[in-house]
Amino acid sequence: MCDIQSFIPAAEPGNAGTVSDAASITKFEVSQSARCGPASPRRISIGALPALLLILPLAWGLAGCGGSATSSTTTTTTTTTTTTPDTQADAMLAQMTQAQKLQLVQGGVTSNLTYGYTVPLGAAGWVPGIATLGIPSLYLADGSVGVGNGVGPATALPSSIASAASWDTTEATKYGTVIGTELSDYGINVNLGGNINLIGREPRDGRTFETKGEDPILAGKITAAHINAIQAQHIIGGIKHFAFNDQESGRTTANAIIDERGGRESDLLAFEIGVKDSNVQSVMCSYNLTNGQYDCENSHLLNDVLKTGWSFPGFVMSDWWATQSTVNAAVNGLDQEQPNQQYFSALGQAVTAGQVPQARLDNMVHRILRAMYQVGIFDNPQKIQPIPAAADADVAQDIEEQGAVLLKNAGNQLPLNGSSLQSIAVIGSHADTAVLSGGGSAQVQPIGGSLTGGEPCPPCWATVTWDLSSPLKAIQAMAPKATVQFADGSNASAAASLAASSQVAIVFVSQWASEGMDETSLSLTDLTSTTPIDQDALVEAVAAANPHTIVVVESGSAILMPWLSQVGAVLEAWYPGQSGGPAIADLLFGVTNPSGKLPITFPASETQLPRPVIPQPPDGVTPFPVNYTEGYNVGYKWFDVNGFTPLFPFGYGLSYTTFSMTNTALVNNLSSSTNPNFQVTFKLANTGAVAGAEVGQVYLGMPPSLNEPPKRLVGWQKMLLQPGASQTVTIEVDQNDSSHPMSYWNTGTSSWTVAPGTYTVYLGNTSATASLTTVGTITVAQ
Ligand code: BGC
Repeated sequence: MCDIQSFIPAAEPGNAGTVSDAASITKFEVSQSARCGPASPRRISIGALPALLLILPLAWGLAGCGGSATSSTTTTTTTTTTTTPDTQADAMLAQMTQAQKLQLVQGGVTSNLTYGYTVPLGAAGWVPGIATLGIPSLYLADGSVGVGNGVGPATALPSSIASAASWDTTEATKYGTVIGTELSDYGINVNLGGNINLIGREPRDGRTFETKGEDPILAGKITAAHINAIQAQHIIGGIKHFAFNDQESGRTTANAIIDERGGRESDLLAFEIGVKDSNVQSVMCSYNLTNGQYDCENSHLLNDVLKTGWSFPGFVMSDWWATQSTVNAAVNGLDQEQPNQQYFSALGQAVTAGQVPQARLDNMVHRILRAMYQVGIFDNPQKIQPIPAAADADVAQDIEEQGAVLLKNAGNQLPLNGSSLQSIAVIGSHADTAVLSGGGSAQVQPIGGSLTGGEPCPPCWATVTWDLSSPLKAIQAMAPKATVQFADGSNASAAASLAASSQVAIVFVSQWASEGMDETSLSLTDLTSTTPIDQDALVEAVAAANPHTIVVVESGSAILMPWLSQVGAVLEAWYPGQSGGPAIADLLFGVTNPSGKLPITFPASETQLPRPVIPQPPDGVTPFPVNYTEGYNVGYKWFDVNGFTPLFPFGYGLSYTTFSMTNTALVNNLSSSTNPNFQVTFKLANTGAVAGAEVGQVYLGMPPSLNEPPKRLVGWQKMLLQPGASQTVTIEVDQNDSSHPMSYWNTGTSSWTVAPGTYTVYLGNTSATASLTTVGTITVAQ
C-alpha cells in the first residue's frame, strides 16, 4: 500500500543563501513512489532495516544496476508473496478468538469511570495487548503542541498555529519529530494529535491554538508534515476531530449544517490532504453532529468520505466519550471506542444477534492491526529513555522564531539596538518570568517548570499555565548596558510612568484559551488574574507615555487591536512555547528576522465574522444547529466575498528587510497526460540590508461561472535570501495534487472536477487582493 500523496518542496528554504539567480522549485504533486518511507527519521532502529533491505534491491534494479552486463542468461521462476500491513493484519486476525477481537476495539478504562481515571504511563487511553499472540498494548497520549496528559514533563512547543505560520513544511517536520520522539521515549505508541479543524470559521474557538489556521491547503500540508514525522518514530499518528468540530460551545450537541460542496472544499479538504499526504493511521471522530448525525456514527463522513472516498486504511477512534451507541456506531464506521467500553462492551452480543456483521467486527480489528504493522509497532517497541530535552528546546525556539509574525513596524522601530539602549520597560503578562500556553488536553507540562494560575470557568477544569521562560531576562541579555525594569500591568498608571522614563516600552498582552471554552470575544480579556487587567487600556496608557511602544501578543488566535494606530510595532508571538523568552528577544533585537505569515485572518471587528455571536446550546443534551451558510467561504474567502477589509489579511507578515518579486511568468503544462500542472516563475530579490525570508504565495481565481470565492491559495514557497541576493523561484501547481487546486466538488458526479473556463493566477506575499500581481490566465477548453 504505497499510495500516499505527498507535498514535496524540491528545494527547501534556507539553502538559497547567497546564490544569485539559482533556480528553485516547489511542487504540489501527487507522487506514487517513495512516499511510504518516513520523512527524515530521527532514529533508525535496527528493526526498520529489513524493510529497507527489501526496498534497496528493487531500487537498484530499476536503476539498471546490480548485475554484470555480460552475465549469462538464465531463466528462473520465483513465486513471491508480498507481505504488507494488510496481509500481516489478516494473518493475525485469523488466529484471534472473538474475545480477543473485541478487546482491541475498545478502550481499557473501566466503563463506569468517566473523568479522573488513570491509565498506565500517564496516557489518556490504552488498549491492553494480547501477550499470547504478541500483540503489544496501545498507549494513547495527546500531542498537539508537545506530549500531553500525565505522561511527564516534555518540550512545550509553540502552539501548532505558530507552526502553520512558518509556512514551512521542513519546520513542521521538526515539530512533529519532537512530538514523536518524546512520545516514543515515554513509551507511548499512539498520538492523539493532528487537530485540523478549520477554525477560521470560528476564530474565538478555544482550541484555535492547536490548529493550523483557516486555509485547507496550508493546514493540510503542515499537518501532514507533523504526522509523517510522528509516524516515523513508530507511532500511530492521528488526525482530529473529524469533522466540523469548529466551536467548543456546546461541542457535544452542536449540529453543523453544511452542504456537500461547501464541506468538501473547506474542512473536509483539509482532512483529505492530511490523510492522503501522511498515510495517517488513525482518525478521531468528533463530539458534534454533522447534518443531523453524530460524527462517531455518521456513515457519510466515516464510510463514504473517509474510508471509501479517500481509501483511508487505518482506524477511526472516538473522541473521549463521543460514542453514542453500539450498533449504529459500529455499522456506520467507528472502529474503536475510547477511552472505555460504555457501548462496545455490548458489541459481542450485537454480533451474535446479527445486528453487526461479523465481517464488520473483523474489519475493525483488521484496521487497528494494520495500523500497528504499518508504523512498525510490532517490530519496534518503544524504548523508555530520557527525552532529548536540550536539543528539543532548541527546536522549540527555532520554530517560534520562524512562526512569529511581525504585524506592524512603523518607522522601523524594530529591531532594537541592544548596544545603544540605556533603559527598557517590560510590562505585563508575567513577562518577567514566563510565557503563556493554551489549556486543555493539549496542555504540556513544560520541561523548565511552570507558573500556574486559576481554573477559569468555563471550562472549569483547565489550569492556566505559563511556561517558565523569561522574556525579560532574554531582553536584558540582548541589551546588557540597559536598565530593564518590569511592571506587572495591574496598575496602568504605574506602567505608564515606567514607560515614560524608559527609552523603549515593550508591553506583553495575552489571551488565554483552552479546550472546553470559546473566547467570549476577540478583544483582549484577562481570565488569568484574580483582578482582571484591562490590557487594551494598559497598552493605550503606555503608548501615550512613550511613542516607542512595542506590543508582543501571546494568543492562540486573532485578537482585536483598538490601540494599533497608537503603537510603534506589534509582534504576534502566539503561545510561544518553553523557549519563548529567548525567541522573542531574538526577534525583537533582529538576531532573527521575522518571517512568519498569518495562517488566519485578523478581523477588524467581530461583526465581520460569519456568525458575529457564537451559537449557544439550549442545554447540555439537545442538539442545536450551527448553520454554516458560508459554505466553503471560510477565512479570507469570506472576507473577499463580502468585500470586508480585515485588520490583517491571511498570509500577511512583515520583515526587517524588503523584497521584490519581478520577471513573473506562467507556464501552462496542463495538457501533459502524466503530470498536468502550471508553474509560476518569478525572481525574488532581497532589496534590503539584512538577510530575511519571504513567502511567495500563489492564488487562483476560478472561472466566474463556478461561483467560487475570488481566490484560493494553491501554492507557496518560503525562501531565505542574503541582502542583495536574488533567486528565480518556480512554484508548480499540480492539477492532480491531493489539494485539488484547480477543481471544484461536483455534486452531480460526486467527484472533483476541473471546469472549462478561464482561471486567473496571482502572485504575492499576502492574500490582500490589492497587493497581488496577476501572473496570467489559463483557459481550460470545454
Ligand atoms: C479531546 C481530544 C483529546 C482527548 C484525550 C478530548 O477531550 O477533545 O482532542 O485527544 O480528550 O485527551
